[in-house]
Amino acid sequence: MPLPSLSREACAELDAADPLAPRRADFLLPEGVIYLDGNSLGALPRAVPGRVAHLIEQEWGRGLVRSWNDAGWWDQPRALAAMLAPLVGAASDEVVVGDGTSANLFKTLVAALRLNPDRRVVVAEAGAFPTDLYIAQGVAELFDGVRLRLVGPGGEELAEALRPGDVGAVLLGHVDYRTGELRDMAAETRLAHDHGALAVWDLCHSVGALPVELSACGADFAVGCTYKYLNAGPGAPAFTYVAARHHARARQPLTGWHGHARPFDFTGDYEPAAGASCFLSGSQPLVAAAAVEAALQVWRGVDLALVRAKSLALTDLFLELTRPAGLEVVTPLEHARRGSQVSLRHPDGYAMVQALIERGIIGDFRAPDILRFGFTPLYLRHVDVFDAATALVEVVRGGEWRDPRFARRAQVT
Ligand SMILES: *Cc1c(COP(=O)(O)O)cnc(C)c1O
Repeated sequence: MPLPSLSREACAELDAADPLAPRRADFLLPEGVIYLDGNSLGALPRAVPGRVAHLIEQEWGRGLVRSWNDAGWWDQPRALAAMLAPLVGAASDEVVVGDGTSANLFKTLVAALRLNPDRRVVVAEAGAFPTDLYIAQGVAELFDGVRLRLVGPGGEELAEALRPGDVGAVLLGHVDYRTGELRDMAAETRLAHDHGALAVWDLCHSVGALPVELSACGADFAVGCTYKYLNAGPGAPAFTYVAARHHARARQPLTGWHGHARPFDFTGDYEPAAGASCFLSGSQPLVAAAAVEAALQVWRGVDLALVRAKSLALTDLFLELTRPAGLEVVTPLEHARRGSQVSLRHPDGYAMVQALIERGIIGDFRAPDILRFGFTPLYLRHVDVFDAATALVEVVRGGEWRDPRFARRAQVT
């Protein structure tokens, strides 16, 4: 996208003309902070505290056990799925909101392998978010003969890994958490299918950041969290996608009563519920689910094409304005291969990020050397990007980060 000018005034003009600008008022943002870590933990939507308080005080406090029916508690995982489905290009019954991403990865990977019983290899990415690899390792350890084959980014390595014809499932991150690289979901799903493998997508870094089209891309399964770009709060329940064509046969391993077809018959035999619902296991964290509900309401009427356009404009702007810092750019410059973050590399990146945080500009650091900045089009302005980029250049060029207090590592980076 051509930049008209790089002045702060020009950025303010872009904000004035931004069709997404009114969405910022849907969030409670702390004073004096520019938040570039919404790809780790999204900001607090204004409606969340009231909705959570209502659940606690009214639905629980007064309604008590009646709220399972009267407040729709039992159907909450499906009600949330109906709100979330348009954000991932799915039908409502192909999605269910519940449990955590890691648990859902386990369930979907096992289900994919069971649909493909003659294939014993799982392909995963060498640079995947660690929990994806750990869960895949756990699946391999549990099932005799299941092996992992790791690939690097891009379709060529994937094609190579699929060639032997023994791959049952590929587990791919839509956007790489560390580099911000966006994979071509349609092409890579097709590649997997051409080689007889099923495709399981991790949407943690793409849902809410860009349009996701699971159905149109032919994805088989997907998982994602709601606490990054969807802003549902720390530890909020995740979601699972199961393509409609697999509903009749897909079987997940954690067959609890919330995934049963008629749980209140209290029969002794498991019978899966219809659709993605059978991927639920047990009782869900409904206090946290209330936050998901309020957070998803922000997305009503939001055009994801506008979100994508603004995301690319913001990341372009940041890349352009931080060039004088002289840091290596890790994120692809090509729009088609870029998610909604900018990753820069420097061996002292940790200290640089800490120095920025002290100035109220919150990004994060990913070992060994990545400075990571997430761009959330619903609540970030172009002027925020201008101010953050200016500060980064000052911190790096001025050597402010060399102060020893910035080198002390906290438990969470
Ligand atoms: C954030 C993230 C997760 C998180 O998994 P949890 O079970 O919610 O802790 C998993 N995968 C990817 C790619 C992520 O970015």
